[in-house]
Amino acid sequence: VGAGVLIVGGGMIGGSIACELARHGLRVQIFDRQQPGLEASWAAAGMLAPTESHETRPLVPLAQASFDLYPAFVAAVEEASGLKAGFVASAGLHVFFGDRAEAERDEVLSLNRSVGVSVEAVDVAEARRLEPGLNPAARAALVFPNEGRVDNRALTDAVLAAASKLGVGIHRGKPVEAIEIENGRCVGVRAAEETFAGDWVVMAAGCFSAQVPGAERYAPTRPVRGQMVALRYAEPVRVAQVIRSERGYVVPREDGRLVAGSTLEDAGFEKRVTPEGLSQILRAAAELVPALSSAAVVETWSGLRPGTPDHLPILGPTDLPGLLMATGHYRNGILLAPFTARLIREWIVQGEVSVEAGAFSPLRFERQSFQATR
Ligand SMILES: Cc1cc2nc3c(=O)[nH]c(=O)nc-3n(C[C@H](O)[C@H](O)[C@H](O)COP(=O)(O)OP(=O)(O)OC[C@H]3O[C@@H](n4cnc5c(N)ncnc54)[C@H](O)[C@@H]3O)c2cc1C
Repeated sequence: VGAGVLIVGGGMIGGSIACELARHGLRVQIFDRQQPGLEASWAAAGMLAPTESHETRPLVPLAQASFDLYPAFVAAVEEASGLKAGFVASAGLHVFFGDRAEAERDEVLSLNRSVGVSVEAVDVAEARRLEPGLNPAARAALVFPNEGRVDNRALTDAVLAAASKLGVGIHRGKPVEAIEIENGRCVGVRAAEETFAGDWVVMAAGCFSAQVPGAERYAPTRPVRGQMVALRYAEPVRVAQVIRSERGYVVPREDGRLVAGSTLEDAGFEKRVTPEGLSQILRAAAELVPALSSAAVVETWSGLRPGTPDHLPILGPTDLPGLLMATGHYRNGILLAPFTARLIREWIVQGEVSVEAGAFSPLRFERQSFQATR
């Protein structure tokens, strides 16, 4: 069995990898610098939307594969933990406003079709039949049938509880300060001035990954702030599915709340909620469903997405034997967790993966800077 696997960071990504490895008989420990599960994985909206948005084309097959794993992933986590995760498979509705609505719809439609995402154009009357609260000013709509949502806070708690039940050691309040290297191999970590030996170290510290000395060259992550608002509304407003526009989204929760987001801000590690951010989110939410203007604001928060230079996650082995990266999931880490966990397990257990993952290699940044300096 050996010294096992040490995972740096106990968010959705670290927790999911821990469960996957423990189920395959590996000895696993998670290190978190605070109480695990309270960073981006806590802050997210919980949309499971394997769609093509902007520069993320190589991500679509991975996102779809991860979405396909979701029902079984949630069932296994719920069974092991005894906790519920609020997973619902349900179509996403994307609506467009203004003079360019049809043209914008057609762009989003063809972009998504070109990468094999199922999507249908529906007329606004049909969209309002699906969502009676939808703004009648909407001019065009798309339905993405293969989507879902999950209560990411509940799921992250359940994943960490499942990991614990599966025998994973969770070190709370233990910041990893260094990667231990011996004879050109990663042999463990130093955390809170103690050394821990591991056969493998997996860096899953979200946007903080680049702060761990030695990880930055593989994982140049940076925080991309997102503000969020939770609303509670009274009948007759009803939102049954995720509704989004180019300006924002609303996501219903099973507990009757509805979360609305979000901003994309370059604001360092400062998790502030600002008047400007809130008003942008609330305007976008009320544009989607006008009756939300009179809902009660019940919570506001912000979180830090793990951004990367090319907006793609950073997954897989490095050129330091024993060190793997599983970070940089940016806007899709909740969705991508099940497949990320599978890939890391395949790399550790089999030494290779079942899919083409070169676009996500932790070595791509070194290659780029090498080319740039030549
Ligand atoms: C506002 C917002 C909305 C989002 N909406 C969605 C969505 O709808 N769907 C979706 O799929 N994704 C969404 N995301 C993205 C998603 O939340 C992230 O991609 C995902 O949570 C990343 O998970 P993680 O485990 O890598 O990072 P995190 O959840 O940030 O966890 C990292 C962990 O590492 C720990 N850590 C940091 N440094 C150290 C250290 N030195 N030593 C030990 N531990 C350390 C931290 O304490 C933390 O617990 C959203 C994000 C935000 C902010």
